[in-house]
Amino acid sequence: MNSSFFLILLLFFFTFSPGCQLKPEVDNVSSNEKTGVSLDTTPPTPAFDTLPIDRRAEYIMGKFDPATHPGFVPLDESYTDRPGMQLRSDTYHYFLMMAEHAALDTIKLVIRSATRNFDQQKSIWERKWEGKTLLEDRLDARQISDPAERARAILRYSSMPGTSRHHWGTDVDLNAFTNKYFEEGEGKRIYDWLLSHASTYGFCQPYTSKDNGRTGYEEEKWHWSFTPVSAVLTQVAKTTLANTDIQGFLGADQAGTIGVIENYVLGIDQSCHEPH
Ligand SMILES: [Zn+2]
Repeated sequence: MNSSFFLILLLFFFTFSPGCQLKPEVDNVSSNEKTGVSLDTTPPTPAFDTLPIDRRAEYIMGKFDPATHPGFVPLDESYTDRPGMQLRSDTYHYFLMMAEHAALDTIKLVIRSATRNFDQQKSIWERKWEGKTLLEDRLDARQISDPAERARAILRYSSMPGTSRHHWGTDVDLNAFTNKYFEEGEGKRIYDWLLSHASTYGFCQPYTSKDNGRTGYEEEKWHWSFTPVSAVLTQVAKTTLANTDIQGFLGADQAGTIGVIENYVLGIDQSCHEPH
């Protein structure tokens, strides 16, 4: 165990956890005035401290099995669209509080995707690279002959293996995978609720509109991230990962040309860079 890393973890859990009280005598259970929901703001036990320092890059790149990692928990199927998903325990703790509040407002949050490790992301990426899964507008990536352009086309909505925030166990895709769903009817009601309340529980939307100059992936109104942990992991990625570390899948040699770390991993909304 590297003690400085452990201290950083303690620092951010005792500094940045949503609603966390630094003074121990302060009651750590408060109520949401509007809904009456009791919000237990006790910081969850940090799980990341079980990770040896020399495994940090492997964790960031998703080179582990979340089903057996001690910091991860299985998700209750009442909050997912299928069995077998996992999240970090701290992220899930705050997601459950958010989902409970949402339910009182007749909003049903459904996790469509949670943690994906390197191997799962490699499968998604290579299916697109080889044209087995078509891109948006039914485009076959094989029709794009320039390999950097082919990778960029896939990168509109899919991460290169090793660079996905879904590796971290802090990020979820909610309810539907199209922005259109969230722009009208029930989807708009869900998105508006998230815009109003998600930050209360520590969640941010990393991939917002690119109109403000953000680089990287297109807007994803379904993708939400548990900022108290993911902002720290973003910094770990920034200081630990190089484009040359991104290897082991078809098209990986384009990572440097594209600048996948600086333009995509770090191309997130400002609200996700700083814990709330
Ligand atoms: Zn996502």
